[in-house]
Amino acid sequence: MTTAAVSLEDIVVEFGTVRAVDGVSLEIRPGEFFTLLGPSGSGKTTCLRLIGGFQYPTRGRVLIDGQDATRLPPYARDVNTVFQDYALFPHMNVRDNVAYGLMVRGIPKGARHARADRLLEQVRLSGVGDRRPSQLSGGQRQRVALARALVNEPKVLLLDEPLGALDLKLREQMQAELKALQRRLGITFVFVTHDQHEALSMSDRIGVFSQGRIEQVGSPREVYERPATRFVAEFVGAANLIEGEAARRYADGAACALLRPERIRVGAAQDARATGRVASVHYYGAFSRIAVDCGDATLEVDSPNAAGPAVEPGQQVHLHWQPDAIHAIPA
Ligand code: ATP
Repeated sequence: MTTAAVSLEDIVVEFGTVRAVDGVSLEIRPGEFFTLLGPSGSGKTTCLRLIGGFQYPTRGRVLIDGQDATRLPPYARDVNTVFQDYALFPHMNVRDNVAYGLMVRGIPKGARHARADRLLEQVRLSGVGDRRPSQLSGGQRQRVALARALVNEPKVLLLDEPLGALDLKLREQMQAELKALQRRLGITFVFVTHDQHEALSMSDRIGVFSQGRIEQVGSPREVYERPATRFVAEFVGAANLIEGEAARRYADGAACALLRPERIRVGAAQDARATGRVASVHYYGAFSRIAVDCGDATLEVDSPNAAGPAVEPGQQVHLHWQPDAIHAIPA
């Protein structure tokens, strides 16, 4: 068995009477892109700060590469952090910003500048080394912060919503670049976001947080297609949750049954699994989300707009899905 890059062992963090982290255990594998995903206030940032050494736990242990790091200060850990606001030094040029960690360690100027320039190349920023951070765009600053955090070749890189300040297009571009960079360098990335799309598209594995606890750890496919709890089903993607009597009809013994909107198709009356009236239609370009009132449940249906004529509110529709589209969530 390989040693985990980071282990959290039964961590509790209390701020006065607030329990920010409530018994979290987690193993992050070497070289993996691991995302802490959850709503605001669920404890993700506190967990990241624990790994970085900016926060000590009330209870529990933090291991980095198998070594107990629970009470080690940040500089004594083989870990670096990219903060959301980038925290670049405004009075230093880009090259010196990137080389800062090497300067602190006493690496001579020539060597540290050469290394900084190599890093700037890695993040596709060659040629801006002499500029000040204020002369860069948001996306470029983000890359400088990344290069600066990587310059010491940490075993683990912590990223706290690093793309949060970027507009959607740039954000999507940076998601792909960040992921590619991580693959190329083979460094363990621990990434915090509340954005489910970001988490699904970038991660090897995701830990889903709710109220200071981890609800599930799994691959993007696992958490999306086989959520362990009701919370995960609803937080990661759109969900029809069918409860009680109806759920038992669809899935034996389940407390609740999940049926994703894109797994339902509008079709003929024959062999339909449900029939109802269209309550609303929202157009999203590639598909329309249709709410269908089926009596004992309202089902949301994502219907590809290329598939056929638009449905109208009030219209009766027949719904179809494959048996394996139903995922039973245990009580
Ligand atoms: P966000 O996405 O908004 O950053 P989060 O999931 O990262 O949220 P945390 O920042 O870890 O959540 O906060 C978890 C809980 O701990 C929240 O209730 C927060 O208010 C509380 N908390 C965090 N830091 C402190 C602190 N220094 N003092 C008091 N309470 C804190």
